[in-house]
Amino acid sequence: MKNKIIHINTAAPKPSSHSILIIYTGGTMGMVYDESGALVPFDFQLIMEEVPSLRNLQLNLTVIAFEELIDSSDMNPDHWVAMARIIKEYYESYDGFLILHGTDTMAYTASALSFMLEGLSKPVILTGAQLPIGASRSDARENIITALEITSAKKNGKPIVQEVCIFFDRFLLRGNRAKKVESSHFDAFHSENYPNLAEAGIYIEYNEAFLGNFADQATLTIQEELDSHVTILKLFPGINEKVVEGTLNVPGLRAVVLETFGAGNAPTAPWFLAALRKAIEKGIIIYNVSQCVGGKVLQGRYKTSQMLDSIGVIGGNDSTTEAAVTKLMYLLGKENSVEAVKEKLKFAIRGEMQANPSY
Ligand code: ASP
Repeated sequence: MKNKIIHINTAAPKPSSHSILIIYTGGTMGMVYDESGALVPFDFQLIMEEVPSLRNLQLNLTVIAFEELIDSSDMNPDHWVAMARIIKEYYESYDGFLILHGTDTMAYTASALSFMLEGLSKPVILTGAQLPIGASRSDARENIITALEITSAKKNGKPIVQEVCIFFDRFLLRGNRAKKVESSHFDAFHSENYPNLAEAGIYIEYNEAFLGNFADQATLTIQEELDSHVTILKLFPGINEKVVEGTLNVPGLRAVVLETFGAGNAPTAPWFLAALRKAIEKGIIIYNVSQCVGGKVLQGRYKTSQMLDSIGVIGGNDSTTEAAVTKLMYLLGKENSVEAVKEKLKFAIRGEMQANPSY
């Protein structure tokens, strides 16, 4: 992968300051207007000119920028691996990590990293902006400043946040619970099924009871192997048999996130259930996630989900689609058998769903 890394030291106010590593990947946030009025990627060397109040934070900041800055629509698992490797390489040298990222796929990256960073006990915060940093009403400055404050926040010598989060507008959200819900307003992200982890007003108020630490090992390791032979099948009334068959018969396919109605319901048509059953018998995993933004899958509650349960579809509880897709990529890359993946899917690994299975 082409992404080479450029080191830029922005400021070093005092040796005792907290040290934050910023990973700059691209997105709308980092755009400025050039002389011709066109939006072009921002030169991070000039960050102090764009955001002078960064100096007041008294932080030691280092920026590693992807050589090729990308719109997050171009984000893929290779980029996630690149970010995870940077975090691993510099893990001991920094108090926390801030990732500047386009908003469109930020929830996927946050979810993927939450799984890949095994043993994480430092903050990894993603933020971005709806308007370029060069625009006068840009939300970029506020988002960067507050996200940096959160990334550097400590209590009793320990980071307050020890997981992968998204900070956007006023809210800190668990990364694998967040969704982009808005393409024009500033409050672009929401977590319907899990409380906000902090709210930034005059003070930053942390919701400490809900902050997580999923480190079950002393050191950070990263899972680099991700299997992207995964797809999403979104149901709608009138979905065509050929479309379902075509999707389930894609060569090499290993797992499907089935986006169902309401509490996990799907058509009861015999052809539909037969197609799913055949796929499951071939070893394809079907993971049931609701199209609703809030609530959870309760397989077996209605007749329309009882059959799913009996043919071996796995209930995804209150997972987002973003968390379900990336969890599948992670588990398929890590585990040796389909059965092991299926077993792990039933439980929360990094707080991405309620602890109890919902099947
Ligand atoms: N298309 C942009 C991106 O996701 C949108 C943004 O950054 O807000 O990279």
